[in-house]
Amino acid sequence: MKKNTAILNSIPIDPLTGAISVPVYQTATFVQQAPGVHKGFDYGRSNNPTRLALENILSTLENGHSAYAFATGLAAIDAVVKLCSAGDQILAVDDIYGGAYRLFTQIYNKLGIQTKFCDTQNLALLEDAITPQTKLIWLESPTNPLLKISDIKAIAKLAKAKNCLLVVDNTFAGPLFQKPIDLGADLVVHSATKYIGGHSDLVGGIVVCKNEVLAKEIKFIQNSSGGILGPWDSFLCIRGIETLAVRYQRQSQNALALAQFLENHPRVANVYYPGLQSHVNHGIAAQQQQQHYGGVLSFDLKDDCSELAARICTETKYFHLAESLGGVKSLICQPAKMTHASVPEQVREKRGIKGSLVRLSVGLEDIEDLIEDLQIVLR
Ligand code: PLP
Repeated sequence: MKKNTAILNSIPIDPLTGAISVPVYQTATFVQQAPGVHKGFDYGRSNNPTRLALENILSTLENGHSAYAFATGLAAIDAVVKLCSAGDQILAVDDIYGGAYRLFTQIYNKLGIQTKFCDTQNLALLEDAITPQTKLIWLESPTNPLLKISDIKAIAKLAKAKNCLLVVDNTFAGPLFQKPIDLGADLVVHSATKYIGGHSDLVGGIVVCKNEVLAKEIKFIQNSSGGILGPWDSFLCIRGIETLAVRYQRQSQNALALAQFLENHPRVANVYYPGLQSHVNHGIAAQQQQQHYGGVLSFDLKDDCSELAARICTETKYFHLAESLGGVKSLICQPAKMTHASVPEQVREKRGIKGSLVRLSVGLEDIEDLIEDLQIVLR
C-alpha cells in the first residue's frame, strides 16, 4: 500500500454507525453495566474513543507500539521526563525549543533531574557527555530554530550501548517521512499543534512508545498527571492527518524554493534549511527524512541587527508575525524575542540564535507571492 492510501486507511470507519469521520465522543464518563464492568472506557481522563482513535493512528504512522495524546506538546515532553527519578540526568541537543529548555532547566532541575546540553551533531562530543546518570538522550532533528540535523540511527546505537533511552522530538520532521522508531529511538514526541493539526486551530502533543514496557509507563503517567487531549481537539488532529501528506510535501517544496532564493540574496548571511546542498548534514537529512525537509527555515542578516529583523517580521504581507509553525498559513518570527525568549541571552548568543535571526514557517500560499513578499521587505 502506498503512503497516502496507508494514512487514509489508518483512520477507522465508526463500527457502530459507519460514519466516515471519527465521531467526537464529548463525554466525561461512561455508564457501566456493573461496578468495574464496562466497554473499555470508564472515565474521560483515562480513556476516550476519539482520543484513542488518534493515538492508534499516530502509533501506526510512527511504527510504534502505542501512542498517547496530551493537552500540548510541552505536556507530552513533561510526561516523558517523568520517566526520570531524582539523580537521573538528561542529555539534550543544545539547539532546542525554548519551552523545552525552560521546562528542563527551571522546573526539573529543582526536582533533582539535571539537563546537560550538547551539540548532538558531533557523535564524539555526545559520547563524552554521557555519564552513568544519563537516563534520556533528547534530540530534535531538525532542531528549533537552527535546523540542525543529528544522525538518529548512529545516536540510537550509542544510546543502546550506554543503556540510555533515546527520545526524538519529531515535531519539525512530522510523522510521515522521518520514522525515529525505525531508526532505533525508544520514544517519539510531537507538538501536534504543528503539522499534525496543521491549521493553527489547536494545541496538542503526542508521545509514541517503542514497546509495551514504555507504553505502560507513559499511559500510567498520562492518567496519573491528567494532561490529556480533549475529544474535540483529538478529532481536529485526525482531520488534520487526512491532509498531512499533501500539506507537508507542498510546504517542503515551498520552503526549499524560499531557502534557495534567500541563499542568493545579498542581504542574507546564512540560511538554515536541511534541504539545501550547503547544509552541513544535508546527506543525513536526505536519508532520515526521505528527502522531505519540512516547511521551516531560518536565516540571519548580514547587517547583524535585531531592529532590522523585527522590521522584516512586521512588514511581510503573507507571512504573519506569530509563534508556531506547520500550519497552512505562513508565519514569521524572531526567535530571540519570541519562541526562544526564555533561553538566557548569553546562552542564545553562544548557540547562534542572534537577534538578527528570522524563522519562517512556510504554508500553502503560492510560492511566487511568498518570494515577492520577502523580496520587498529585504529591499
Ligand atoms: N517541540 C518543538 C520542537 C516545538 O517547536 C514546540 C513548540 O513550538 C513544542 C515542542 C511544544 O509544543 P506546544 O506548543 O504544543 O506545547
